[in-house]
This record gives sequence, C-alpha cells and structure tokens, in this order.
Amino acid sequence: MRKTLPSRVTVYEVGPRDGLQNEPTSVPTAAKVQFVNLLAAAGLPIVEVTSFVRPGSIPQLADAEDVLAQIDRAGETRFTALVPNQRGLDRAALGQLDGIALFTAASETFSRRNTNAGISETFERFEPVVRGATERGLWIRGYVSTAFGCPYEGDVAVEAVVRVSRYLVELGAEQVVVSDTIGVATPRQVMSVVDAVSMEIEPARIALHFHDTRGTALANVLAGLMLGISTFDSSAGGLGGCPYAPGAAGNVATEDLIYMLNGMDIESGVSLDRVVAASRFLSTVTGRMPSSRYYTAVSG
Ligand code: MG
Repeated sequence: MRKTLPSRVTVYEVGPRDGLQNEPTSVPTAAKVQFVNLLAAAGLPIVEVTSFVRPGSIPQLADAEDVLAQIDRAGETRFTALVPNQRGLDRAALGQLDGIALFTAASETFSRRNTNAGISETFERFEPVVRGATERGLWIRGYVSTAFGCPYEGDVAVEAVVRVSRYLVELGAEQVVVSDTIGVATPRQVMSVVDAVSMEIEPARIALHFHDTRGTALANVLAGLMLGISTFDSSAGGLGGCPYAPGAAGNVATEDLIYMLNGMDIESGVSLDRVVAASRFLSTVTGRMPSSRYYTAVSG
C-alpha cells in the first residue's frame, strides 16, 4: 500500500554504538567523545552513544560511562545508549542519558546466542529496566533484531516480528526498531513486514534499521518511506555490523541516507558536509576508509 512520502525524517545515528562495537580495535575514549560531538554538530537529532552490556562481552564499548560523562551536551541532540538489563541501567543512570534502547530478537536462536537468553527471558529482564527508565523519565526504544532473517535459522516468520514488536510496546517501549541485523532484506520483504507491524503499531512509532551487507539498504529505506515510516537508523561512514552475526557489514551510511533524502526533498536537519567531517575524523583514528559511497565520491 503506497502512502504519501513523509516530508520530514528522523535520522537515528548508531555509528558510535553499532559501528564501534564491531571495530576490531578499540577507539580511544577521547576520540569517541570527539566523534559523538562532531555528529551532534552535524545536526543529528539523536545519537546512540554506547552500550551498557557487560564490559567483557563487548570490550570496544567498556568505557561507556566515561564517553557519556565527557560528551558535549550543550546542543539539541538527544543521546541514548543500549541497556540490556538492570545492571546496565544502574551504570547508565550515573550518566546523563535522554533515552535507552532495549535489544531483543525475532529469532529464538539469535536471541540465545546473542544475549544468552530466549526471547521471553529477555522480556523478563526488561521489566525492571523499563520501570527504572520510566521512573527516571527516559525515552525507550526496543530493537527487534533479525526481523528479516537470522544467521542461524534463516527465514524469520513475519508473525514473530509482529509478536515481538507488540510485546515491546506493551512493555513500555515508545518506539520499535524493526532491524535487519545481517543485511539480507529486500524491498518487497520490507513492505510485507512493515505492513504487518503497522497493523498493530502506528507507523510514527516504527523505526527501520538496515545494514548494507548485500547492497539493498537504501532500496529498503525507500520501501519504508513509501509505507510512511519516518525514522531510519544509520551510521556515519557506514560503520557497523554485529559481532555475533559473522560477516555482517556496516549499517546504511548516514551520508548516503542524507544524500538520498536531500535529493527527494525530505527534510532531516542534518548537514551532509558535517557528517562527512565526522567520518573523516574517525577514519584518521581507525586508519580505515569509510565505506559510505557518498563519502568516497566526495573524498576521492
Ligand atoms: Mg545493527
């Protein structure tokens, strides 16, 4: 079902979290802080800064408290972090967060391998987290990972995506993030999954999270736009992946997304040049060229 394209889109930047958690080496804390500050200066309305998972499980983000404590909060950008459990919330609560992200999956095997908990068990863990976050006035989003395919189970039933999305909303998540963790989705699949989730949850509360592993991420964004979705996750430079999903490449690049939105007269409030500057800064730290096509085109 085709709807009018949204005139404005919220770009949710996940580079510092989804991107850096998959970097082979740890980026120094000061460089992460600088990267986040540059992203905020680019006008990104919301940046997922880090993750309060057990430091041993993702050593790249073990400095979560320090990064949060040091970022510049003078602007309008809101900052969030992934918070998997009560212990994570206790750590996160010491920093100044605007919101938290919960993380579960549409595939039972992925959930067990990724979080050592089945899907229903992740919901039990979430209950006190949601209570605590709500008491602190924090905004809550919930990721439904492997919504378009699982590295262990293959196809994922649309009904499972809908069920987990509904659980998250019933639990108290204000936004559900239908996520293509391993970058296998194609546009018609996006249409059928988003259509099904939209029957239960209004499109304004649905975000889409695509990885460009197989080159379909922007096509999938377009499919989402045509269904009236107006929040999209991306990472500066196309950083990203998933340490538990072997071979998963980066998120759709923020530069590539903004370039497409600009060309379609869809407002985002983000400065393309300044996102490029943030990516350029980070590439000097990691020593690797960003995979963003736009970045490559303007930096070549
Ligand atoms: Mg991801």
